[in-house]
Amino acid sequence: MCASKLFADTPAARKRRYGAGRFSFNVAQGRCPTCEGEGFVSVELLFLPSVYTSCSTCHGSRYNPQTLEITWRDKNIADVLAMSVEAACEFFADEPSVMRALAVLRDIGLGYLRLGQSATELSGGEAKRIKLATELQRTHHGDTLYILDEPTTGLHPADVDRLMLQLQGLADAGNTVVVVEHDMRVAAQSDWIVDIGPGAGEEGGRIVVAETPDVAAAHERSATSPYLRAALTLR
Ligand SMILES: [Zn+2]
Repeated sequence: MCASKLFADTPAARKRRYGAGRFSFNVAQGRCPTCEGEGFVSVELLFLPSVYTSCSTCHGSRYNPQTLEITWRDKNIADVLAMSVEAACEFFADEPSVMRALAVLRDIGLGYLRLGQSATELSGGEAKRIKLATELQRTHHGDTLYILDEPTTGLHPADVDRLMLQLQGLADAGNTVVVVEHDMRVAAQSDWIVDIGPGAGEEGGRIVVAETPDVAAAHERSATSPYLRAALTLR
């Protein structure tokens, strides 16, 4: 995240010649030497799996005291990593370089994640959405094909709407978005539907209808068309 650059640009950090790397817990200079930036340590137990406990040197902050002395708007880097994406959006509201990544995370429904959350603590769905967010914040040239496998899995309905806005943005920019999806609200907002069934999956499936949502919803032999019709009336 580019917030480390904001910290490196403070007068106090410049005076000490702390670069942006100093504020990354992956870099030796700034991190706590005891836990090497993990924030926790592993305790080996005889005959039992080892357990993890908060690092007693940095108390889970991941950084050494010198790094934590540097503050930006009265917060040090550990305070920032403890913030949720939502809170960070307020804190960094007037810092476009940081906001860009934060806003995408918030917009796809990950506003509750802490910035310092380790990737291993993420659910499969969250990890997938972060990957998607990373892709979405890149500069697009309108020549990319995206294939998404059930991107709405585990999403709150409000977040599905946010995700759809993002995907629509990609399509509007000239990209092609192919989504494998069971959520008929997503299908209803597509430009084109390929209805595969029965026997989709192992049996390969059979294309029942390939049409615009309105036409697909009127199809008689499609098992999904009643659900699609319902979703279209809600649209
Ligand atoms: Zn530590």
